[in-house]
Amino acid sequence: MDAGAVEGDLVEVLFTEKQIVDRLAELAAEVDRDYEGKDLVIVGVLRGAVMVMADLARALDRHVEMDWMAVSSYGSGTKSSGVVRILKDLDSDISGRHVLIVDEIIDTGLTLSWLTSNLSSRGPASVEILTLLRKPEALQMPVDVKYVGWDIPNEFVVGYGLDYRERYRNLRDIGTLAPHVYS
Ligand code: 5GP
Ligand code: MG
Ligand code: MG
Repeated sequence: MDAGAVEGDLVEVLFTEKQIVDRLAELAAEVDRDYEGKDLVIVGVLRGAVMVMADLARALDRHVEMDWMAVSSYGSGTKSSGVVRILKDLDSDISGRHVLIVDEIIDTGLTLSWLTSNLSSRGPASVEILTLLRKPEALQMPVDVKYVGWDIPNEFVVGYGLDYRERYRNLRDIGTLAPHVYS
């Protein structure tokens, strides 16, 4: 879906599909270098990371296993609850393997901090994080992130996998919503 289809709902486009895909290609080149010769599993955090996983994985120049987890930390609104629950666990055993968690955004850091320690307890060779976006001002838990697309201000964004009440995930670009959408 293009921005024109939701014209009036968006205040601003922050990143276009082209900018995002180009940035992910740069990060993929770093991942290729850093994990050369190693067994790598990338773990997408459903549902927001679907687009990042698809574009990152295809930009990699190596074999990689793609697995998925679903956790809940947000309700349907825009505030983090801090409560994390596993809704869908990994299908693969990650013990002895290198794991890269792929997410679309780090806000408070509560979800990824919890997920990192959960996956670390399963005996992997390593656990690292790649996120397309990060909001440094919103961080409540220290999270060690190896790859970041961009740091952004503390604003709620949608598109490219990011939803507001399950809408806007299929927007190609990332942008901010107009106040009238929330009311
Ligand atoms: P955290 O635990 O770091 O606060 O955020 C966890 C999840 O909250 C993210 O993976 C994402 O699903 C959601 N989230 C955080 N900030 C935003 C935002 O600006 N926009 C949208 N659509 N979701 C967000
Ligand atoms: Mg997410
Ligand atoms: Mg959401």
